[in-house]
Parts: sequence; structure tokens; C-alpha cells
Amino acid sequence: MATMQEPILLDRPDAPLVGGYEVIIGFETHSQLSTQSKIFSRASTAFGAEPNTQACAVDLALPGTLPVMNRGAVERAIAFGLAVGSHIAEKSIFARKNYFYPDLPKGYQISQFEIPVVQGGNVEFFMGERKMSVRLVRAHLEEDAGKSLHEDFIGQSGIDLNRAGTPLLEIVTEPDMRSSLEAVAYAKELHKIVTWIGICDGNMQEGSFRCDANVSVRRPGGKLGTRREIKNLNSFKFMQQAIDYEVRWQIEQIEDGHKIQQATVLFNPDTGETRAMRTKEDAADYRYFPDPDLPPLCIAREWVEKVRGEMAELPRAMAARFEKDYALSEYDATQLTQSLALSAYFEAVSKACGQPKLASNWITGELARRLNAQDLSIEQSPIQPQTLAALVSRISDATISNNAARQVMDALWEGSSNSVEAIIEAKGLKQMNDSGALEKIVDTVMAANAKNVAEFRAGNEKALNALVGQIMKASRGLANPQQVNDLLRAKLA
Ligand code: ADP
Ligand code: MG
Repeated sequence: MATMQEPILLDRPDAPLVGGYEVIIGFETHSQLSTQSKIFSRASTAFGAEPNTQACAVDLALPGTLPVMNRGAVERAIAFGLAVGSHIAEKSIFARKNYFYPDLPKGYQISQFEIPVVQGGNVEFFMGERKMSVRLVRAHLEEDAGKSLHEDFIGQSGIDLNRAGTPLLEIVTEPDMRSSLEAVAYAKELHKIVTWIGICDGNMQEGSFRCDANVSVRRPGGKLGTRREIKNLNSFKFMQQAIDYEVRWQIEQIEDGHKIQQATVLFNPDTGETRAMRTKEDAADYRYFPDPDLPPLCIAREWVEKVRGEMAELPRAMAARFEKDYALSEYDATQLTQSLALSAYFEAVSKACGQPKLASNWITGELARRLNAQDLSIEQSPIQPQTLAALVSRISDATISNNAARQVMDALWEGSSNSVEAIIEAKGLKQMNDSGALEKIVDTVMAANAKNVAEFRAGNEKALNALVGQIMKASRGLANPQQVNDLLRAKLA
């Protein structure tokens, strides 16, 4: 591809080492754009049709046919560039990438080479509390190829050209990732962005979002290692396994005195191993040249602004708004903007209870924990926003303690009732806020623990904790700890 010069590596003294080696990873991701029709023809892009029912004369490369650019595909590329802070080229060029393969009847793939439509940009995400940023080199438009189908039962192979001409946006990073975990976190964030802005359905099983991981290893500060490229990773789990295996393999080779050959490799999920498919070809092997059938792609600034105007609020902008309007930390705001559905859930809860910070804590804490444990998305949450809002309100007005709220949440989760009030009532979880009843308990406990009382009066602060503990126990956990403290201190003064 176009970037022939050595990449400028980020200095990452914090990078985790594997057996004394630094791992360097760069990604190329093919994101299938969600247009109804193909990038240069009017054939449908729908997945799963009978072979060759969705390939028209252009896709079959019949003589005399000419490609016509799909506006929708360009608009999606623009939207992506805007989402990650890239430069949208005013003029970009389509090029022919020449190679022979049975699923490529033209003998070349139309792609972009020297001047891609989307240039630069950054993908930002959190790993735990740590903010990461991966630089993008470019994103370019191209067409997908067909598929070879191997019909083992008749011992024949066939070609299905339904996928030929499907629009792709290939998104290329700088080699900024330093571990398989960082790579997966990047891929998840990218997946979130393309689905959030609606340019890709993100279906990884169907191949709508497939990643190639370029992996090399080196001694920290040493010369950049030779990379091998793991092709077509279509699950986050395989991505991590494949990179981990590849890293171990490369280190073993180097330790054994072998040189790494630049190569394209495939991951086999059954064996958990990567295996070389072909030694790597260079850009020169593809004899790229501008496609004479397509004029340069010219994008007027007004078009960019029109796309910008039609885009929904982006995750980063929404997170910034959450920080400002709801006084949330950057970390919480980022957590809550992991998906459109989650952000909508948060805003609904927050609006209904008027307690954004508390709502955020309960959503990213207790609710997220329960959803994760059962592998559910927020859309599948058995607890509706209004119900969570009612629970948060009862916490904030001190009707129930955090501990009691967790019990209410358990009951809501199990679905025995949808009413927070009814559950609090039925389980007797109301915090004892009536100071009269509480005072009685305090007096009883003080009388029964004269030793602790004397110790506290003699200056031993710890003795107070013992008394608070006794009182909480006597109230079956329903006393408000702050109130107990205040009452005790007043009486002991
Ligand atoms: P191609 O694979 O199409 O020839 P590039 O040379 O542009 O394209 O590189 C593709 C990807 O490989 C980019 O994401 C780049 O950051 C990454 N990359 C380049 N060199 C290395 C390296 N030594 N180790 C790991 N990744 C690398
Ligand atoms: Mg590549």
C-alpha cells in the first residue's frame, strides 16, 4: 500500500514486554459500507442471496461496462473521517490494483492508492482508566472481490460474485499498538464508531467488519522488526488469540537465530495457530495506476458540511457534553457512551431522577456487572430506565442504603416485581430515618456497652466504631450510618 516509508514509532516506555521483546501492531480494517447497492453498480449488496443472483454486468466485468461511483459510499467515508478527526481530501483518486484470482473477473480491484479520501485522524479509547490514542494513516474506498466456494461433497469449486463490488472502507492505523489487549481495545472502539455513525452494520460473522493485524517484535529501542500480517480476523476473541500466538512464534524464531520473513498469514481457530499463506508482495507487485474509467473523486466543502449536519452526535462530543452537563468524570462519560443505546439509557434515568452522578454510578457499576455476567446488552436489560430512576431516587433521598439498594436491584433483576416501592416495603428495607426510634437503639446500645463509652470519652476514637457497629446490627442494617455517627457524637460529647 501507499505508505512505503518507515513509520514513525510512538515512544512508549510503558509498553508491556513479552520475554524482553516489545510488540508492535498496526491494523488494516475492512469495513463494509451499509449502502443498498454496490460501489460502482446498481446490484444489491444484501447478504445471503443465492450465488450469482446479485452480480450485474459491471460486477461480472463484461466488456463495455463502466463503473459509476455510488454517492452513498462516499458520504459514509466522509462521515467516518469526520468522526475520527481526519482530513477529507478535496480530490482523491481511484487506482487499479492488479492481480489474478478467480473471484476477480476484471483482473484488478478498484481501490485508492496514492491519494485516499480520508487522511489522518485518531481513534481514542480507554483501557481501564488509561486513555489511549491510535493514529490513523488513512481510510480509502475500494470494492470487495467475489468468493470462491468449495463444494467438498461434489469435489468442485465455484465462484460466487454476489460480493464483488460491495463497498469497503479500508481503515489503516500507524503501528501504535503494543499488545494484543491494546489491539482488541482499538478494534472494539473502531467497531463502535462505524456502527454508531451507521456506516457499517458491524456484523463480524458475515464479514462486514474484518481486521488484518500486522505484527512485529523488537528489542525495546531497537530496529523495527519485520512484520507478518494476520488476515481476516472476524472475532475479537480470535484476534487476541492469533496475535498472542504470532508474538510467541516470532520471538521463538528470533531466539532460534532465524530471520522473520515478511508474510501474510492465516489464523486457524481450531489449532489456535497462525500459518503463512504467501510471502508478502509489495505495492510494486500490484502495478497500481489511476483508473482511467473513473474521474477523480471531488468532494466540495459544502458536501462535507452537509454530511456533518446530518450526523448524530458523535461519541466523543457526547462524552464531552456528559462531562460538562452532568459533572461526570471523563472516564464515566466515556463508559456511558460505549453505545448509543447505553447513552440513551443513562439520559433517561438521569432525567427521571435528576441525579446524574448517582445514575452513572449505578449504571456503570451494579447494572453493568449484572449485564456482563449474563452477556446481555443494555437493550436486553430486565430493568427499565424508569425503574432504575425510582431506585436511584430512593437512594438519594436516603430512604434506603446502598446495601439495601443492591437487594432491591436483585429483586428487580429476578423480575418478581417492577415496583421499587413495593420491594422496599415487602423486604422491610427502609432506612431508619426517624430519629426517635434510632435514639432508643442508641441509648440501649450505649447502656449495654459502658466500656466502649468510657474508652471513647478517654480519647479512643476506635471505640466509636465498635458502638456504631453494635447500633447498625441492632437496627438490622436499617439505620443510616451517618445519622448514627452524629447522634452518638452528640450524646458522648
Ligand atoms: P500493506 O500491508 O498494504 O503493504 P502498509 O505498509 O501501509 O501496507 O502497512 C500496513 C499496516 O502495517 C499499517 O497498519 C502499518 O502501521 C503496519 N506496519 C508497518 N510496519 C510494521 C511493523 N514493522 N510492525 C507492525 N506493524 C507494521
Ligand atoms: Mg496490508
